[in-house]
Amino acid sequence: MSYDTRIMLFITGLSRSLVKYDFPEIPVVAAIVRDGRIVSLYSNDVETTGFPWRHAEFCAIESLATSLGNKFLCDCDIYVTLEPCDLCMAMIDAARIRSVYFGAYNTKYGSMFNYSSARLTPSIGGFYESDNSNTLIDYFGSMRSRDV
Ligand SMILES: [Zn+2]
Repeated sequence: MSYDTRIMLFITGLSRSLVKYDFPEIPVVAAIVRDGRIVSLYSNDVETTGFPWRHAEFCAIESLATSLGNKFLCDCDIYVTLEPCDLCMAMIDAARIRSVYFGAYNTKYGSMFNYSSARLTPSIGGFYESDNSNTLIDYFGSMRSRDV
């Protein structure tokens, strides 16, 4: 495992910019990194497609596995601005991704304390925790003010 702070900083800033420009999705960004380079980069695609499982991690894994023609991504790490949910963590395990680095903890749907029985992939969280949490707080705040 070799964490690269530049990648986490990049996706943290990208996530923030999605809020700034009223992107119609929960601003979660995931990047898959191989040999020190981003090889797949996605944000959530739930509202656009209407599919509730199209989280950023899901899209990034699916796209890369398809383009490589390889279901296993053993030499890849995934960076994500929010702790993966159980669904995404199961997918990360299935794809045999080497390690997970995430920003904000997801105290409601995060996999750290929920998805534990068969967990394979080591995960470390809390990178730019306050920045990534504040991005989500600001997003949901702006959504509430639109509903009024
Ligand atoms: Zn997820």
